[in-house]
Amino acid sequence: MAPRRAAHSREATGAQEEPRRGASGLLQAARAAAERAYAPYSGMNIGAAVRTVKGGVYTGCNVENASYGLTSCAERNAIFAAVAGEGPAMRIAELAIHANANSAPPCGACRQVIREFGPEAKVIFPLDGEARTITVPELLPLPFRLS
Ligand SMILES: [Zn+2]
Repeated sequence: MAPRRAAHSREATGAQEEPRRGASGLLQAARAAAERAYAPYSGMNIGAAVRTVKGGVYTGCNVENASYGLTSCAERNAIFAAVAGEGPAMRIAELAIHANANSAPPCGACRQVIREFGPEAKVIFPLDGEARTITVPELLPLPFRLS
């Protein structure tokens, strides 16, 4: 897909959305967030939606930068919005990812952050064109830990 230029200002959204029930509702929230992605370099628009253990739903989209290393992933943006909304005790129950691509498993950095806030979470992401649901230990079997 050709890179897409932002027509207007876009940013990660930390706005709490109406909590929706079920994985399909969470995927819809992730899809809506992906529509707000700022991805002029990769053309890969990604949205993530976190449902917290308390039932809150928070979304994020990827926000790229001309200095590539400054790019921030949808998953981490959604998780950080959830922490901002609920505080440091926030825990992830489910995290759903939508992308305009057949496959979009979380990157290594996001896996570590998902593990920090959701060791028991379910993670839903597109893999070869289908929604795949896996556990965090499957996603990151040996996380980094401060001992
Ligand atoms: Zn990532």
